[in-house]
Amino acid sequence: MYRFPWTQVYTPGTWIEVTDSCDLSCPGCFRQQLEGHRPLELIKEEVQLCQKLTNCERIAIAGGEPLIYPDLTEVVAFIAEQGMKPVLMTNGESLSPEYARDLKAALLVV
Ligand code: SF4
Repeated sequence: MYRFPWTQVYTPGTWIEVTDSCDLSCPGCFRQQLEGHRPLELIKEEVQLCQKLTNCERIAIAGGEPLIYPDLTEVVAFIAEQGMKPVLMTNGESLSPEYARDLKAALLVV
């Protein structure tokens, strides 16, 4: 359930982009690969800035394809540690049962 009205001090969610690389080449994709994987420390700073500016309850992790970002599990854990819900915007191509278990375990850090 959402709380209305959304304001500058309360929004249900926002998103961060951890990479602009992808493991697919969809014909209609508008995404250009310009910088590849972004530094983990910069991602953490952006997570904290999003929380400070919007007081959001969840952060969607997007790309590119976030599952190919090497530190994705740490990003998920970091968002959860800050008291927010991490959500993945993914094509699912690189998801394995082991990777899914690791991501689920990262949420248990809360
Ligand atoms: S999965 Fe998304 S980011 Fe990747 S090529 Fe397709 S539309 Fe683009």
